[in-house]
Amino acid sequence: MNIPFNKPHMTGKELWYIAQAHHGGQLSGDGPFTKKCNTWLEKRTSAKKALLTHSCTAALEMTAILAEIAPGDEVIMPSYTFVSTANAFVLRGAVPVFIDIRPDTLNIDEARIEAAITSRTKAIVVVHYAGVGCEMDTIMEIANRHKLIVIEDAAQGLMARYKGRALGSIGQMSTLSFHETKNVVSGEGGALLINDLEFAERAEIIREKGTNRSQFFRGQVDKYTWVDVGSSYLPGEIIAAFLWAQLEDATHITTRRMVLWERYHEAFEELEAQDKVRRPIIPNECEHNAHMYYLLLPSLEARTKFIAALRAKDIGAVFHYVPLHSSPAGQKFGRTAGAMLHTDALSDRLVRLPLWPDLGKQQHAVVDAVMEAARDM
Ligand SMILES: *Cc1c(COP(=O)(O)O)cnc(C)c1O
Repeated sequence: MNIPFNKPHMTGKELWYIAQAHHGGQLSGDGPFTKKCNTWLEKRTSAKKALLTHSCTAALEMTAILAEIAPGDEVIMPSYTFVSTANAFVLRGAVPVFIDIRPDTLNIDEARIEAAITSRTKAIVVVHYAGVGCEMDTIMEIANRHKLIVIEDAAQGLMARYKGRALGSIGQMSTLSFHETKNVVSGEGGALLINDLEFAERAEIIREKGTNRSQFFRGQVDKYTWVDVGSSYLPGEIIAAFLWAQLEDATHITTRRMVLWERYHEAFEELEAQDKVRRPIIPNECEHNAHMYYLLLPSLEARTKFIAALRAKDIGAVFHYVPLHSSPAGQKFGRTAGAMLHTDALSDRLVRLPLWPDLGKQQHAVVDAVMEAARDM
């Protein structure tokens, strides 16, 4: 593809840091680069504790264990999300309870949460779609009143803010992704952020195969042994070294993406005025991170034609999630609460445009192709 949908950005320092990790001799996890990354994440997000994981999926699985999710428990979440948001809880025997999204941000509709709460509800998982924050004040207020845990799936949310607070720093726990399709990448990669220190010690143990290895290395216990359930959720140092180069450059990466995002936004203002497309809506209280530029087209048919028209010009435009409530596993393991009007309507009409830091002048070709495809709609 001439202009692919995504192309991971390299900062130029990745191999240098990998060489340092190689020279240092520690290849397993929790070495110097992992520690640098954890500290950076704590500083930048104000989370009380950050722990690198090998994926956001892994971090989500850790949150399910930490929240003591048990068979039959219910976890409220949007249907319009990636499978891992639900899978992590289904693995513990929980029932994902899917609710509709807001038509403006495509985030969980906070006004529908309370009606979905039952005596079995344990947690609310929010997803900050496209790096645009959910309505966290309302969500935290509902959760506190019902004594529910809030987990932020901030896979797309690094460097974005809600009312000045970093996404991922608001719920009791949150998760980040460094998958190569995200803004800051390490191929596969992720992190668990802990904001309620009650979960901190157990998080270390679960991440280290259920052992107290971390405490042992700090000299807090004199034996290193099996103390709890757990798995291996940490990345090796090579991955952490790669990620360190990216985190150092995170501000620059975000700025470059923002420039491209704003250019698309300006270019398509006219199409929106003509009712041909709807552009993303960013609420005043949110500072986003230009994770994604999407357009909402008039219908599924229009979207299919639109994607084909761009593909004919060798441009990678793609749709996004098949709502989980209409997926085979979602139907088997989960249930819906309330109508899924916006989820069903908007997921069929959404198309994502190429957006990566080195897109540069090729963006003009994308804009031209979009204008032409929209004219024919
Ligand atoms: C990318 C993504 C994930 C999964 O991240 P991995 O690091 O690939 O496991 C989970 N949730 C959301 C909302 C995502 O966008």
